[in-house]
Amino acid sequence: MTAHTELADSYHDETSVFDSTPVAPAMPAPLHIVTPLIRARVHHLSVGFKLDNLQPARSFKLRGIGRLCQHYAARGVQRFVCSSAGNAGYAVAWAGRALGIPVTVVIPETTLPFMRTRIAALGAEVRCEGRVWDDANAAALELAQAPDTAYIPPFDHPLLWEGHASLVVELARQCDEAPDAILVAVGGGGLLLGVLEGLRRVGWRHTRVIAAEPEGSASLAPSLAQGKVVELASPKSVATSLCVRRIAPALIDACRGGTVVPVTVSDAEAENACVRFAEEHGQMIEPACGTALAPLYANHPSLAGMRRVVAVVCGGQVVTLRQLADWGC
Ligand SMILES: *Cc1c(COP(=O)(O)O)cnc(C)c1O
Repeated sequence: MTAHTELADSYHDETSVFDSTPVAPAMPAPLHIVTPLIRARVHHLSVGFKLDNLQPARSFKLRGIGRLCQHYAARGVQRFVCSSAGNAGYAVAWAGRALGIPVTVVIPETTLPFMRTRIAALGAEVRCEGRVWDDANAAALELAQAPDTAYIPPFDHPLLWEGHASLVVELARQCDEAPDAILVAVGGGGLLLGVLEGLRRVGWRHTRVIAAEPEGSASLAPSLAQGKVVELASPKSVATSLCVRRIAPALIDACRGGTVVPVTVSDAEAENACVRFAEEHGQMIEPACGTALAPLYANHPSLAGMRRVVAVVCGGQVVTLRQLADWGC
């Protein structure tokens, strides 16, 4: 026996103790893709733009929603129901088509017509119920009572956060060093919870998270200040993907470490950020994403003393060329 095979044998012996441990069923390949990280200089900062607007469903949402839909598909679910007129509804429709499972998306009357058309074009059934998201959601929850049907929430589920955490796991492979900060947009807080989970996984303990929300629908900042979920009466912003009444309650505990810095952004700042990103990088992004980039372009005080940051370019779906042209005037 040569030294080489001896080594191989002893290696085999050592690992064989694990053979009897139960093996988790193989996870199917995720529905989302690994997105590029492009580099740029903004003010004194070295910036990495994480291009999740290039996900097949045009936003980061496919990471978590793909994960949750695959989880239910493996358990034999025959239909997905969700309530969202935006990226969540689009991502569920996309995931359902990929998995061969029918989807019903319940939208409120206020939904932009082009979003309705795009969701229907993926083969999903689109139903219209009530004036606002809460009405549509009540209808979706009722529909999801049917047998073999799964309700897919837009932001409040641990498997969504687990899916979103993949974004940071990718960053750990794409960056030479931990960034000083990551900029994210906050609506219900699913993306933020996923990023925090990802930071834990890759061991980036000193990376701050700049959590940007629109002035007209800022629920994270008051909720963290009061230590409980603060409900907004009528959230309103050009960043419709971020208009949510209540953040996910899990954020109250998850943000206790002090690494999360809430920042509010005006509609005009979000729109300007969309125009600037389009001009500098040749890609359309939506105001929700402009909200995340605005503190960067404004050289916000929360970035003082930092050198390297990553901005999550979270979506490029809920925007039109005409809007971008108007905002640029
Ligand atoms: C949903 C969404 C957000 C906010 O995500 P939450 O998990 O609700 O905080 C931000 N940007 C885009 C493009 C979105 O679709």
